Amino acid sequence: MGPDLKAVLQATGVAKTFPGAGGGTVALQATDLLVQENDFITILGPSGCGKSTLLRMVAGLDTPSAGLITLDGQPVSGPGPDRGMVFQSYTLFPWLTVLRNVCFGLREKGLPVAEQEAIARRFIAKVGLSGFEHHYPKQLSGGMQQRTALARALANNPRILLMDEPFGALDHQTRELMQELLLSIWEDERKTVLFVTHDIDEAIFMASRVVVMSTRPGRIKCDLPVPLPHPRHYAMKTTPAFMDLKARLTEEIRVEVQRAAGLAPA
Ligand code: ADP
Ligand code: MG
Repeated sequence: MGPDLKAVLQATGVAKTFPGAGGGTVALQATDLLVQENDFITILGPSGCGKSTLLRMVAGLDTPSAGLITLDGQPVSGPGPDRGMVFQSYTLFPWLTVLRNVCFGLREKGLPVAEQEAIARRFIAKVGLSGFEHHYPKQLSGGMQQRTALARALANNPRILLMDEPFGALDHQTRELMQELLLSIWEDERKTVLFVTHDIDEAIFMASRVVVMSTRPGRIKCDLPVPLPHPRHYAMKTTPAFMDLKARLTEEIRVEVQRAAGLAPA
């Protein structure tokens, strides 16, 4: 690590076994991961390989069975406003408007209402929802709800944004729009992001680095830089650099899926 690179998140020997019959379920084998300032890391892996488990431990929603996770050098011991989360299923408070949802964490921090609303409106505008401040979640499309969840996470100015298949429930076109929106926000604000997906195109298009996980018990299999410049545009998905990396990742994932199905040696 160079002197100008700053570790935001570090996982060292992090493993997770869920208790149960026969010694329990090993969801994650000892895993090391380093996320530096302004990284956009995607974690790519087949279903059930422990991606959500890893992210939930970083979020402080689950405790590792072994190893250590630190954020800015401090051990993670529970959830905190320094980690902003966006999950696949809509996590907005249904009884609160868009504005109140986005203000939620700011209110918890004890900011004056005028300041909460000024910050919230800025992020609502960033995700293209100006004019919808007083709508309730059920009045919004799935994409708009996820944009609200993104605005809410960003409004708290977290050290790291944790996203678990955030666009997984959206139709293809909406999903591509959301990818471009998140990328443009990242290019603007240079946030640090850890993003879980099982979609290879999404993993490449969004990331500065793609981390591939093997099937259960999960472990990190490879960690590849994405050689695409910024700003990114969807047309880059057909460039040779994109296609080469896609071919490599497709093969890595295919082997893992075969292994899980008992069609390839472990
Ligand atoms: P992914 O997000 O990659 O699809 P998960 O992290 O959700 O995978 O799950 C990894 C493995 O751990 C799976 O085999 C799953 O069944 C198991 N698992 C996840 N959560 C629990 C839990 N709370 N109790 C027992 N097993 C779990
Ligand atoms: Mg998952």
